[in-house]
Amino acid sequence: MRVPLVAGNWKLNKTVMEASELVTEMLPGLKTINGVEIVLCPPFTALMTVSRLIRDTYILLGAQNMFWEEIGAYTGEISPVMLAEFCQYVILGHSERRAIFNETDAMINRKVRSALANNLKPILCVGETLDEYEAGRAAEIVSRQIKECLAGIDGTEATRLVIAYEPVWAIGTGRAATAEGVNMLVRNVIRPTLDSLFGEKAAEDIRVLYGGSVDPMNAPDFFMVPGIDGALVGGASLNARSFIGICEAAAR
Ligand code: PEP
Repeated sequence: MRVPLVAGNWKLNKTVMEASELVTEMLPGLKTINGVEIVLCPPFTALMTVSRLIRDTYILLGAQNMFWEEIGAYTGEISPVMLAEFCQYVILGHSERRAIFNETDAMINRKVRSALANNLKPILCVGETLDEYEAGRAAEIVSRQIKECLAGIDGTEATRLVIAYEPVWAIGTGRAATAEGVNMLVRNVIRPTLDSLFGEKAAEDIRVLYGGSVDPMNAPDFFMVPGIDGALVGGASLNARSFIGICEAAAR
């Protein structure tokens, strides 16, 4: 049984004060939800504050990125050891990091391995761009990203991974993919690729999320599909009512 997971990716939003206000507004609604793993991913600067606010709840904490080295002369970077003090999860390979910060599959692979070695669960983002989608290359791109980002990972560690399928054309555009389209890609590409890497049991146990313009209205469509285990939510995670609505839909 895969436990549904909804993660809120706040991106480059919220000062410490604003983060504190948002979590305080969300908590009463989120606390009543059962059977869903809820993960908040604020910016680094708000991690400590948010971790204190959610301390007595089941809500978990994630970071949005990390470096693969644990310590050393890497000015400006944050290590998995530092994150593991607060976080259970870390988002890796988000399309914004690939496009704006030139992260390659090889770099993301180093980060995934380092996260696992430091007791963090990676939420690995994969997904094709609009050009790739229109050229009918989604399956090829997603399969390649999964293979390269997860190269060298032990089958026993694999069930701690979460995959977020996020077509780049659906992120922040208001143009979500269709639940049926995501279902096909998860069934025909993502799980078979995981199976080829880790075997059938692990491929069935790894949670696969959808991300891309999820909101409280369309969330139930995605959560009704048995192969979709939750959502990675950007814009709608910045609004307490919207995020609670998505988490409630996942619980249903
Ligand atoms: C994201 O950035 O991971 C994302 C899914 O964003 P949005 O929900 O805003 O499309």
